[in-house]
Amino acid sequence: MTTTSKHAATLAIHAGFRKDSATNAVAVPIYQSTAFDLESTDRASDLFALKEFGNIYSRIHNPTSTVLEERMAALEGGVAALAVASGQAATAMALQNIAHAGDNIVSSTDLYGGSWNLLANTFRTMGIEVRFVDPADPENFRRATDERTRAYYAETLPNPKLQVFPIGEVARIGEAMGVPLIVDNTAAPLICRPFDHGAHVVVYSATKYLGGHGTSIGGLIIDGGRFDWEKHGDRFPMLTRPDPSYHGAIWTEAVRPLGPVAYIIKARTTLQRDLGCPMSPFNAFQFIQGLETLALRMREHCRNAERVSEWLAGRPEVTRVIHPSRFTGEQKRRAETYLSGGMGGLVGFELAGGRQAGRRFIDALQLFYHVANIGDVRSLAIHPASTTHSQLSPEEQRATGVTEGYVRLSVGIEHIADILGDLDQALAVVGQPALAA
Ligand code: PLP
Repeated sequence: MTTTSKHAATLAIHAGFRKDSATNAVAVPIYQSTAFDLESTDRASDLFALKEFGNIYSRIHNPTSTVLEERMAALEGGVAALAVASGQAATAMALQNIAHAGDNIVSSTDLYGGSWNLLANTFRTMGIEVRFVDPADPENFRRATDERTRAYYAETLPNPKLQVFPIGEVARIGEAMGVPLIVDNTAAPLICRPFDHGAHVVVYSATKYLGGHGTSIGGLIIDGGRFDWEKHGDRFPMLTRPDPSYHGAIWTEAVRPLGPVAYIIKARTTLQRDLGCPMSPFNAFQFIQGLETLALRMREHCRNAERVSEWLAGRPEVTRVIHPSRFTGEQKRRAETYLSGGMGGLVGFELAGGRQAGRRFIDALQLFYHVANIGDVRSLAIHPASTTHSQLSPEEQRATGVTEGYVRLSVGIEHIADILGDLDQALAVVGQPALAA
């Protein structure tokens, strides 16, 4: 028995593992083994026929990754999960599992650049059309849906805008239209549980807050188990009709004794088998270490970020501060509806001095690292206009929420006095707007 707790702080430490059955080890061992003994030929046949679930080969299952998968499914309130090599792989596989050439996906425009490229360019070359819609009006998702729509896709807390996605509103449209909502919850673990609001699948870049220490790349797909694939069987033949790649298995029927896990079992037994992008057992171990302190870290990230945004709002060099704690109107309502226990660790702000000021500010930072990453215990900063978004035209930059003087902070868990001290000395270098111009 692992734990019966419903509390995230306990699940993050105990779900999915009590002790190692072979050695009584309390920490989850790294099972660095490619293959696992199949014992008898009868058992081998049962494993391959999915009559029994067990370890065969680490591309498909690995016992260290299994603990991470079970822990994340428990934390999110889902039924099962699949650990993959990166957040990018999680998004790609989550969508490819149900969308093929000729199909389409309706996605929020507010996306991380890597996901944007995957959907707008790579998926297009694969024959999957992605229709981008503004989540300001959830009805845009309904309007873009047709009979070939296979999924809605969005990020809970997309940067740089940090405007919380209307998960419940779009999930309800999806329920009515027969389209599942897949949510990237990378920036909001624990503070948002997308399944509680009606999302159907959750993906993560584990690389960020879940790992938390900036050591490993990984991703997760979590199945909420609540989407009725059979009710919408015509839309999802890949789950409800015989699959020639697995001796004609009909996934919704084949896995019925195991519960509502058709989506995730198909992802594992076909896509993971064929595309081959599993998480390494060593990285799974690192993410398990990260999860153990996730509740503590998220609390501190959120607290520090709120203090930073308050402090920045009082500075003359800063014209705008972007953090969900500062929103008003509909954006405030969404933040309060979907986030609890904190409003996230990411903060954006605009410097009056524009591009020059943004660059000088970044170069002056001493405690903050200048890296293209988020979710690390260390405070991180970047000037998107000259880095992550530099390939976009000024109009495109503005559409994504990036202006010339925009700076993104991923606020870490150092002492708040040191964080503010570093921002203070960097702003002093930038100087007043008149000097910087
Ligand atoms: N999703 C979000 C919101 C991200 O910020 C990132 C990476 O920055 C990814 C997905 C991709 O994750 P990875 O770098 O682990 O592939």
